[in-house]
Amino acid sequence: MSRTIFEKGIGGKSGNYLPTGDFNVDTIEGIRTRKGPVGLPEIGEQDIIRHYVELASKNYHIDKGMYPLGSCTMKYNPVVNEEIAGLDGFGGLHPEQDDDDVQGALELMYSLESALCEICGMSAFSLQPVAGAHGEMTGMMVAKDYFRSRGEERKTVIVPDSAHGTNPASVVICGFEPKVMASDEHGLIDPEILAAQIGDDTAVLMLTLPNTLGLFEKEIARIVEIVHEAGALIYMDGANMNALLGIVQPGAIGIDIMHLNLHKTFATPHGGGGPGSGPVGVREHLADFLPVPRVVMEDGKYRRVYESKNSIGRVHPWHGNFNVCVKAYAYICACGSEGLLAVSENAIVNANYLMKKVGQWYDIKYPGPCMHEFVASGRNLKQYDVRTTDIAKRLLDYGLHAPTVYFPLIVEEALMIEPVETEKKETLDNFADVMEKIAVEAKEDPELLHKAPLTTPVRRLDEASAARSPELCWPGLDSLGGEGD
Ligand SMILES: *Cc1c(COP(=O)(O)O)cnc(C)c1O
Repeated sequence: MSRTIFEKGIGGKSGNYLPTGDFNVDTIEGIRTRKGPVGLPEIGEQDIIRHYVELASKNYHIDKGMYPLGSCTMKYNPVVNEEIAGLDGFGGLHPEQDDDDVQGALELMYSLESALCEICGMSAFSLQPVAGAHGEMTGMMVAKDYFRSRGEERKTVIVPDSAHGTNPASVVICGFEPKVMASDEHGLIDPEILAAQIGDDTAVLMLTLPNTLGLFEKEIARIVEIVHEAGALIYMDGANMNALLGIVQPGAIGIDIMHLNLHKTFATPHGGGGPGSGPVGVREHLADFLPVPRVVMEDGKYRRVYESKNSIGRVHPWHGNFNVCVKAYAYICACGSEGLLAVSENAIVNANYLMKKVGQWYDIKYPGPCMHEFVASGRNLKQYDVRTTDIAKRLLDYGLHAPTVYFPLIVEEALMIEPVETEKKETLDNFADVMEKIAVEAKEDPELLHKAPLTTPVRRLDEASAARSPELCWPGLDSLGGEGD
């Protein structure tokens, strides 16, 4: 284990160049000075830089290698987006500045909303939600107020078992009752099962599209019809819209409410808790329910409107994560409509290519063709007492990040793989080769897989205990007189 910066920083060194003041702070009225050390590491600038470079090189990140996490869309994010979001004119704004002073920022929000409306065939978008799950919650609130405004009491939301895990959680948070609907043997919604489950009490069908098996609902037209005939709304979790850009406009096929994950589809880095953005789009009859403020254009000027009759109100103190919107808008402008279509086409081609290769060694319960991702299964290696966890850990030894594992729940020993559109063929081939090697190792030396990872800074962790009773280590506590370990 490498030492922490607190253990390294005991040299009485400093990395600051501040001059010593020519005044005595003790004589300034009202200022309390601390006597004695403050418990911060004492370390020179060069050693600080080495410390963090060493940590970064131990870590796995998108600049180091492929990230095949299903559903997460960990793709390359062009650096120019960061530069643009960091421009003083964007980074230095305050959300409470007068509309007249921030015309450029308002124009960007207005233009981004228009672009998202065009891409998705929706009438209006709110940029306020700051995550995909936050968008789901916003969408459910819109649905709730819509039915309330019509004097209808509808309590249940149908969620297919192929939906993303956040969907039922958002349903519950908004006071609806989730009703799980089983997928058919192809991993899709069977319109007859839906028709049997839907009723006067159904508010919404909440659909992840493509679903978490990476499949597009073949019967979508019929599904929409059934939902609308029952007087319910259809919600689309569009977090993985990178499979549909330029191919499907959800609004045009009758989706009433949807969210996007700008931090997946539209190239903002995410993971590690980075800021996200989950805009919510609706068709015309629901536009008035979106959160305020909204940006409108009147007489060639942009302004924010803080009131609307039916609005659900605010879901975020300001206007959402504005800098994420800047990056997404930069990405959309750089790609253009043909570029966005190419994004989705490449995502689909890459996923199908990899599915065919990985499918030579692993079970594929739903062989597709898939959209942007596919779900393989490690169940064929169970005969050697090797589980999906072992496969995931062994991948780390080969310098690769593991896919999403054990999700979706409807696939035993699931390995959910999304290669994304920005990876080249050699990278995909390498991933497939390593998956093959691991399948061979499972047969020949299963003990090795049980011990993996062997080459990482820490070996196999007790994940359950790490989550339930973490040992928080902060040796700096020592210098504050605490009992750190
Ligand atoms: C990632 C994802 C979400 C949740 O998005 P967050 O920004 O993590 O809240 C919801 N649905 C699907 C399909 C996703 O892939």
